[in-house]
Amino acid sequence: MTSTASTPTTTAGRTLSNYVGGAWIPSASADLLEDRDPATGELLARVPLSGAADVDAAVRAAREAQPAWAETPPQVRARALFRLRDALDRQRDELARLVTRDMGKTLPDATAEVGRGIESVEAAMAAPHLLKGRNLSGVARGLDVEQLHQPVGVVAAITPFNFPAMIPLWFLPFALAAGNAFLLKPSELDPLTSERIVELVAEIDAIPAGLVNLVHGGRDAVNAILEHPGIDAISFVGSAATARYVNTRGAEHGKRVQALGGAKNAIVVMPDADPALLASGLTGSAFGAAGQRCLAGSVAVLVGTLDEQERSLARIVKASRALRTGAGSDPDTEVCPLVTPAARERLVGEIEQAERDGVRVVLDGRGDAGPGGASLGPTILDDVPTDHRVLREELFGPVLALARAADLDAALAIVNGSRYGNASVIFTESGGAARTFRQRVEAGMVGVNVGVAAPIAWFPFSGWKDSIDGDLHANGDDAFAFYTRTKVVTSRWA
Ligand code: NAD
Repeated sequence: MTSTASTPTTTAGRTLSNYVGGAWIPSASADLLEDRDPATGELLARVPLSGAADVDAAVRAAREAQPAWAETPPQVRARALFRLRDALDRQRDELARLVTRDMGKTLPDATAEVGRGIESVEAAMAAPHLLKGRNLSGVARGLDVEQLHQPVGVVAAITPFNFPAMIPLWFLPFALAAGNAFLLKPSELDPLTSERIVELVAEIDAIPAGLVNLVHGGRDAVNAILEHPGIDAISFVGSAATARYVNTRGAEHGKRVQALGGAKNAIVVMPDADPALLASGLTGSAFGAAGQRCLAGSVAVLVGTLDEQERSLARIVKASRALRTGAGSDPDTEVCPLVTPAARERLVGEIEQAERDGVRVVLDGRGDAGPGGASLGPTILDDVPTDHRVLREELFGPVLALARAADLDAALAIVNGSRYGNASVIFTESGGAARTFRQRVEAGMVGVNVGVAAPIAWFPFSGWKDSIDGDLHANGDDAFAFYTRTKVVTSRWA
């Protein structure tokens, strides 16, 4: 995109600018939030808490740019995405380091996240194929029917802190490929990767000024997006409560909304689970990224006789105790810090309350909070009543709650009793158990001996129940359906 203003500097502690109409401009708001490295506490940037005036400027720029882009041939739009894909690929390592610094996750995890984001761009490059319509000719004498897919117009994405590279890229490439203009409101907790991605977009001449806009902020910016009459559709990812709010308020203002919410994912451990697959798969799922993934397994259901359950528990505790907690930039780290010291405080409060309710802490991660004050080690809770919030509500940290079940039927009853349905996983060597599980489990993403069952970008990211408000998911064919409107043309020619 042609930029009329200089791109941001990399000075630590600077105040971020919004990107509107092809220029980096200061927010109209004087309210600032500090963005710190969770591993060290170092101040990285000050994030403006933009409001309605900033959102309005971005929407005006987007509305101006969108009609010409909608008329740009789909294959030309896809070629612009080829360029974005190459730019992201060249900056893969730099982007991963930025994710680690700003959000905290380990470098291999951040690298995998950036790779996933690039795959979304690759999937969106299939636009000319996926935007093809359908027709039925001769439905009556001289009468033909055609179904077309047209862009919805201006779309906004509101994204969470936990995947600061991947989740903006779940939306930006598909929205553009389908002929829309785009406004991104990234998480105010770690917006530096979004800023870098938009800088890369800005360098691509084939993406015209005004087509991609970035507005920093929190609640006020979100409310301005929800109410702005110039925004046609909203993609949201975040906690269940915010997803419900965004969906309801967006719908009240006549917008199309997809709002992906929180999760409480269960891992069913059958007595015949392969010990090595279980140890690495379960610990990676529960404690990788410090449990701050929407696909994190935060409940383990131990299945079998009491002896079999105890044997599985011993394996899980041994593997979890061996994990190293530390800074994401340290190659030995397996469990990174939480995103902020406040997130650690909230989780410690949850563990303390659970103890008061009679829950037993079999592995306790509340030791050293680390130099940034945000670290929490792997924590495992046993003797949890089946309706306790540590078993039923999302805690979003490295805390695994245990449940017990005599057989797979009983395990499925526990899993399906959740109000969430993002993902669920089974570890077993039995094809029959795996098949029963995949057929009966109420979750949109299912893992069989895979701890984090994240679909690749050519498939939709498919949560169920309270893990999504709306019908269409991110990525895959759903993304094109969400970002286009269908038009059916009935014609008669003599
Ligand atoms: P969050 O809900 O706090 O924030 C998400 C976005 O909403 C941010 O951009 C934030 O600025 C905005 N926001 C927050 N509170 C708001 C309010 N009261 N009013 C208006 N806007 C508000 O979520 P988070 O803590 O950044 O992210 C973690 C959550 O996201 C977890 O619940 C996780 O499960 C979920 N998540 C879900 C998926 C999925 O695919 N279902 C993927 C990733 C993360």
